[in-house]
Amino acid sequence: MTDEVSEYFHRQYEKSKVRVVPGHWPKFKSKKQVDLWIKLINSMVDDCFTQYLECPRCKNEDIREEQNYCQICGFNLKERNKERGK
Ligand SMILES: [Zn+2]
Repeated sequence: MTDEVSEYFHRQYEKSKVRVVPGHWPKFKSKKQVDLWIKLINSMVDDCFTQYLECPRCKNEDIREEQNYCQICGFNLKERNKERGK
């Protein structure tokens, strides 16, 4: 990944609501690949991970993917995830 593409990726990444573990980032060869990846990840999040980004009960936005419970109100995020998966 060139510095220019890397910089571009980080800008787009910061703009998106998505947070992916750094080891899971693909090696981008062009800005177009970055755009496609960001778009794909965003649509995946819309489909199944939205509940991790904001607590549906108290609207706490400081939620990490690995959290099972909202730290503010204790809402069970994992349970909700299972329900959505049915
Ligand atoms: Zn909450």
